[in-house]
Amino acid sequence: MAKVPAAQTRLFKNLFICRNCKSTMRADGRKIILRKVKCRKCGGTVFRTRRKK
Ligand SMILES: [Zn+2]
Repeated sequence: MAKVPAAQTRLFKNLFICRNCKSTMRADGRKIILRKVKCRKCGGTVFRTRRKK
């Protein structure tokens, strides 16, 4: 089974999970850091990456 790093990056890099309501958001990582992304469910701006767990 071959891993495809590029596909993995694409799948995980721009995926973030809201710390408040745990909904998944797809957004630019820089925007997440700059808190320009709001969770569409709860309006929170704190996200974590999907890879963390
Ligand atoms: Zn949320």
